[in-house]
Amino acid sequence: MNNELIEIIEGLKGYLSYLKMIGIKEIPVTTRVQGFKDSREQIKTNSCAIEPSPPPTLAPFNIELLKDIRNEIGDCRRCKLWHTRKNIVFGSGNPKAELVFVGEGPGEDEDIQGLPFVGRAGQKLTEIIEKGMGLKRKDVYICNVVKCRPPENREPEPDEVAACRPFLEKQIAAIKPKVIVTLGRPATATLLNSKRITISRIRGIWHEYESITEAEAIKIKLMPTYHPAYLLRNYTYEVRKQVHDDMKKVVEELRNG
Ligand code: SF4
Repeated sequence: MNNELIEIIEGLKGYLSYLKMIGIKEIPVTTRVQGFKDSREQIKTNSCAIEPSPPPTLAPFNIELLKDIRNEIGDCRRCKLWHTRKNIVFGSGNPKAELVFVGEGPGEDEDIQGLPFVGRAGQKLTEIIEKGMGLKRKDVYICNVVKCRPPENREPEPDEVAACRPFLEKQIAAIKPKVIVTLGRPATATLLNSKRITISRIRGIWHEYESITEAEAIKIKLMPTYHPAYLLRNYTYEVRKQVHDDMKKVVEELRNG
């Protein structure tokens, strides 16, 4: 099968998933008109001859899905964090990333710039991705559980997580990465749907993210590790080695999984 055909099939698979996600269960049947040979030939749908759309490709499709999710968020006031935020921090990176990092919420720099992980902890995360893992930051996707900054950088509260979580679920469903890395306890607890976790106990161990929304049933390998802000506060050999070991497992999974 040539690359173009694989790309078309992948795009169609993504489009069908999207239709399912937004609740469309049936699609109109399109019939090929006898006698035409190539992909740009005329097609017949319910007796109306129409020009077929260009074949979808996965990257633009994912971009469109993410744009739709951002539009759905709008000028969100679904939880109390809107009172103090400067900007909604949606997420950034490659819409078809194989690896997604999820933190708990934006900090001060992120709130000002409207971008995730751009402060000191963000620089540390970039260092982990680029120097530690040998990847490029632009090739992964980075986002948070809540899209607005919790005051004084406190942990997001359960009602705030509950209000914002559907957007995170949809982002993950749109990107469909091979691996999710959760940064710190709150993000890990949210995506594992478990309130009682201790990050030092479960970091470095493979878990499985399972979407709990009706949008789409998906399962993705999940690796919990420390938040880069914790790393900055506890810059010891032991903690650095633990994060290094966790990310090594992720790189191996991306290569071989
Ligand atoms: S944190 Fe999420 S749910 Fe709350 S206001 Fe911001 S975007 Fe809306």
